[in-house]
Amino acid sequence: MIDPEEAYDLLLRRRADALATACVHAGEPIDASGALDSPIVLSSAFAFESADQAARAFRGEDDAWIYGRWGNPTVASLEEKLAAIEGAEAACATASGMAAIAGVVLATCATGDHIVAPQAMYAESARLFRERLPKLGISTTFVSDTADAYARAVTASTRILYVETPSNPRLGITDVAGIALRSPSRPLVVVDGTFATPFAQTPLVLGADLVVHSMTKGLSGHGDVIGGAIAGRRELVSCVRETVIKGFGGMLPPLSAWLVSRGLRTFALRQERACATAATLAKQLSADPRIAVVHHPSLTTHPGHAVARKQMHAYGSILSFELAGDRAVERGRTLLESLRVATHAVSLGDVRTLVVHPASTTHSTMPAETRRAAGIADGLLRVSCGLEGADDLFDDLDRAIAAATGA
Ligand code: PLP
Repeated sequence: MIDPEEAYDLLLRRRADALATACVHAGEPIDASGALDSPIVLSSAFAFESADQAARAFRGEDDAWIYGRWGNPTVASLEEKLAAIEGAEAACATASGMAAIAGVVLATCATGDHIVAPQAMYAESARLFRERLPKLGISTTFVSDTADAYARAVTASTRILYVETPSNPRLGITDVAGIALRSPSRPLVVVDGTFATPFAQTPLVLGADLVVHSMTKGLSGHGDVIGGAIAGRRELVSCVRETVIKGFGGMLPPLSAWLVSRGLRTFALRQERACATAATLAKQLSADPRIAVVHHPSLTTHPGHAVARKQMHAYGSILSFELAGDRAVERGRTLLESLRVATHAVSLGDVRTLVVHPASTTHSTMPAETRRAAGIADGLLRVSCGLEGADDLFDDLDRAIAAATGA
């Protein structure tokens, strides 16, 4: 009988092995100068060889570089690496995760169209659907994270089935293949895979049409860049690119693209370690009587565990938990202020372990009743595991929990 922890470590190692070569080499051929490192091309415009070439380039008959808002070699090199890691035909880098999400919606929806989206998700995405899109005549039905709930909400004008799995911050799991299979009338299935990263989940294989990411997080991985990505079929990505990049100017700057590419070279290694740490911490915390509940799909008690086991390559590097007992918000605050190894900060997927209280920060723009209906408890704390030693992190959390609970 194989020990489940050893089996998980082996799974992570295999996934890291499968991705490692693309992480290092994809999109980064050695150029004519022989420089091993890809150059950062900052130029906003590019010289044409002839008037004829310029006219052909504008007609789309020549792939000469033209202008930075239309495309850039450093960004293109990152996009090639991203597509290889995601297993996509094509990828498009954007200025941020929100630029990718809003861009996909605005490129594919028009007045009168309808979207199905989850109740529990990143608050700014929720705000896009709840507050901003209705001004353009695009409506959204919010549903629980089951494939049945999505299927029931589809109408004749549904254009997008929007999924965030695992969801921020409660780690809800949605069955992507289940949703894709049940929508033969073919609204687009768009998955925000930020929490999983392509290390832990590849939604295109499950039937999704597009994957969006905040590259600010695990993909870049060092907390030093804001960026987003869209990946999928070439034709669909090109169509979205026209709107998001050329039309709205939501391109990723070349320097940021280079930083993400550099971060991606160690992506498989970083994720292997961070996912292992998250599973270890989730197990340790769930056995602690001072903790009421731990949310991480690796736990067999997690309601999405079976679906996660089927659709994910790993369970991801983020978990959340609630302290047991009353005064959860006040004691959570003490816990955050007692951390010495982990850092109290928003964002996630960093080399540093980041801990945050979503209700008063990342999810504070969600009305309290909407937040509670989505299962995001007032005292919930989110932990994004970084690359520190798992024992150091556990000791740190243990001490901070003791300071918060007096036990
Ligand atoms: N999607 C998820 C799940 C997120 O957590 C975030 C940000 O935290 C975003 C999208 C937005 O990404 P960005 O901050 O890069 O715009």
